[in-house]
Amino acid sequence: MKVVVTRKFPDSIINPLRDKYEVVMWEYEDKVMPRDLLLKESKDADALLVNLTDDINNELYEQSPKLKVVSTMAVGYDNIDVAGAIERGIKVGHTPNVLTDATADLTFALILASGRRLIEAADVIRRDEWKSWAPFYLTGQEVSHKTIGIIGMGRIGEAVAKRAQGFSMKILYHNRSRKREAEETLHASYVTFDELLERSDYVVLLAPSTPETKKMMGHEQFAKMKKSAVFINTSRGTNVDEEALYEALKTNEIYAAGLDVFDQEPISADHPLLKLPNVTAMPHIGSAALETRMKMAQMARDHIIQGLEGRDLTHEVN
Ligand code: NAP
Repeated sequence: MKVVVTRKFPDSIINPLRDKYEVVMWEYEDKVMPRDLLLKESKDADALLVNLTDDINNELYEQSPKLKVVSTMAVGYDNIDVAGAIERGIKVGHTPNVLTDATADLTFALILASGRRLIEAADVIRRDEWKSWAPFYLTGQEVSHKTIGIIGMGRIGEAVAKRAQGFSMKILYHNRSRKREAEETLHASYVTFDELLERSDYVVLLAPSTPETKKMMGHEQFAKMKKSAVFINTSRGTNVDEEALYEALKTNEIYAAGLDVFDQEPISADHPLLKLPNVTAMPHIGSAALETRMKMAQMARDHIIQGLEGRDLTHEVN
């Protein structure tokens, strides 16, 4: 059987696949496997080990009749046509849980960095522009005791809420369904989307990318936020209307934003958002801790073996 691996992985991850199957691996860590090559190699493939940068769609399924498993090294699977896969009996695996803490850590790092202007302050020193201590120099917003509003109280949302408890924050959340257990254990209050926007000092977006969440944060939503509020997005860039976010930040309708994800990735350095001092931007590094990425890679690899052996996947999307 043949497995196509669309990014370069260490031998410790890939050798168990090589022992059993023919493996074709794209050898460049920092470049996406070209689409035409992915399509060519997938034609007779039994399984694909992919990443969020690969578009796994009907075009690919139609020309890959042997395909049995698509395993992505991510919890989000908005790059995969899951319905199309299920229709064809193709199993889709993803990697939840193992990245929850690392992504919650990065989310909280963005809360602290955006509220307290950390990157802006560090740049002042690098540019040798620090003249003296001054009473209101580089003052930001407090984090402790403030109100955090989490849109998408799932695995990562709850892990962010746990961290927020350590900062004595009041926790609000909004989901399509209520999480009674989280309400009890995390002392989180369920509120409507509008109420969350109006009351939160830190609005944190952690809902998945779906047709329903596309641009769920737009002009209307930013207008409802406090002028002193900080917006954090560690979900997917497609969930935000970036033009509306730019306007809100530029006109001080909101205070700052911390962004790990963008509509177009990689975002161009010329992008207007990156010209704003109140934007803290990261290149989609939510889960980028070495131990986490190794666990994700192992899980994604194991899903290939499980699927090709006709077993259930540990974490199957259905
Ligand atoms: P999860 O456990 O599935 O949580 C997602 C939550 O969003 C669920 O509680 C869901 O609850 C809620 N939700 C879904 N649709 C919604 C809507 N329309 N409005 C409000 N809430 C909605 O997923 P997770 O593991 O926490 O991951 C969340 C997302 O984070 C992933 O989908 C991925 O896009 C992103 N992520 C990013 C990084 C990064 O590197 N930046 C890393 C990991 C994950 P209901 O169904 O009840 O609404």
